[in-house]
Amino acid sequence: MIFRKKHLTSIDAGHYKNTADQQTEVMPVPAVVKISMSENIGAPCKPLVKKGDYVKKGQLIGDTDAFLSVPIHSSVSGTVLGIETMRSAMGGNDTYVVIESDGKQEEEETTAPVIEDQPAFIKAMRASGLVGLGGASFPSWVKFNPKNLVDIDTLIVNGAECEPFITSDHRTMLEDAQDVLDGAQAMMKWLQAENGYIAIENNKQNAIDKFNKMIVEQGIKNLHVFPLQARYPKGAERVLIYEVTGKQCDAGVLPAALGVIVSNITSTAFMGKYLKTGKPLTWKRLTVDGDAVANPKNVLVPIGASVHDVIEFCGGYKKEPRKILMGGPMMGRAIYSDEQTILKANNAILAFSAEQAAIPEETACINCGRCHEACPFDLLPTKFADAYQHKDVQALRDLQVMQCMECGSCSYVCPAHRPLAFMNKLGKAMVKEADKNARK
Ligand code: SF4
Ligand code: SF4
Repeated sequence: MIFRKKHLTSIDAGHYKNTADQQTEVMPVPAVVKISMSENIGAPCKPLVKKGDYVKKGQLIGDTDAFLSVPIHSSVSGTVLGIETMRSAMGGNDTYVVIESDGKQEEEETTAPVIEDQPAFIKAMRASGLVGLGGASFPSWVKFNPKNLVDIDTLIVNGAECEPFITSDHRTMLEDAQDVLDGAQAMMKWLQAENGYIAIENNKQNAIDKFNKMIVEQGIKNLHVFPLQARYPKGAERVLIYEVTGKQCDAGVLPAALGVIVSNITSTAFMGKYLKTGKPLTWKRLTVDGDAVANPKNVLVPIGASVHDVIEFCGGYKKEPRKILMGGPMMGRAIYSDEQTILKANNAILAFSAEQAAIPEETACINCGRCHEACPFDLLPTKFADAYQHKDVQALRDLQVMQCMECGSCSYVCPAHRPLAFMNKLGKAMVKEADKNARK
């Protein structure tokens, strides 16, 4: 496909950044955490502990030899109550290590990793347990170890955070700015990337100003702030690459093939901190908001804490929650119970009342073309919907449904309230299934 525009189409999905000015609060250690062994895209980990074992905060509790994986560490000190299987937010039956906290937070001893070359950097990145923290949960060490390493010339640190409500990345920029710079410089060094950009939407002027000042004061060369329009979905990886570099990244093409690596800003800050301390990923900053939450705020939470415990820390529910999302309102995932537990890649918990979660009744398409107009990639959501409803796999292929990134912009602008992005998702699944069957 061809990206024909100078700036890809974006929409005003509202900002609702209610918690942007609030300092992050640290949640007390909950009585019990349930840590999923499926924290990343790829292979799940195998538990390395058993019922009755004592574990320290930061201790390795899960790992696997499978390629696409990262290790998992305990977020608390305490005793392993058992290994459980539970239905996850993604719908699968996942394995969880259940730990009763002793409240002492006794920590595994760590030292800063010694990095002398690129393989050592990659080894440290894997050992840290880092996955894409913007929601993608892709193992970071795999992303930073592309086959064509010599071709990588650009690092983009993604501080766009374009989903409404979410401000956790913004707080990372304000509260952990030095870690962001340290992480970005280390990444650039070991990628041997000549150009580095911290891409930030222009509704976060205080973050833009802060980084510009620090970069000048610290004499950092080749790392620049790249302001973006505060529109949705500027933070989507393929959109961001085009905005910053002008390079077109089609679905299925790795950014590395274009010489670019994109790193979420919170992932970058984590790496900056890890290289100084050796402390693995066990706690996560996330935004808790929505009209059903008594005191919306940004919270630092232990991975494996229940959504219920996190919301209790925010004053509990002030209204009956009808819909609870992990992630933002455009691309987040609705969960069936607040007993679900926090994953590494969670960046928000949003709880909405029936009033705010109400979905207007779908009506007939009026052929207004707004869905097409709203699509960053010039796709044809109405045609996808027709092809999906007729189960026409070839038409879905011809229309390039696989280019759809399920951003939800088309559904958002549709006056007939058609669930277009959802139909695209089902259409993509139909094509994948047909391809799988053809391979068989
Ligand atoms: S969901 Fe897909 S078709 Fe709809 S606007 Fe986003 S990329 Fe385009
Ligand atoms: S925006 Fe909705 S009503 Fe308008 S053409 Fe697209 S599907 Fe039809």
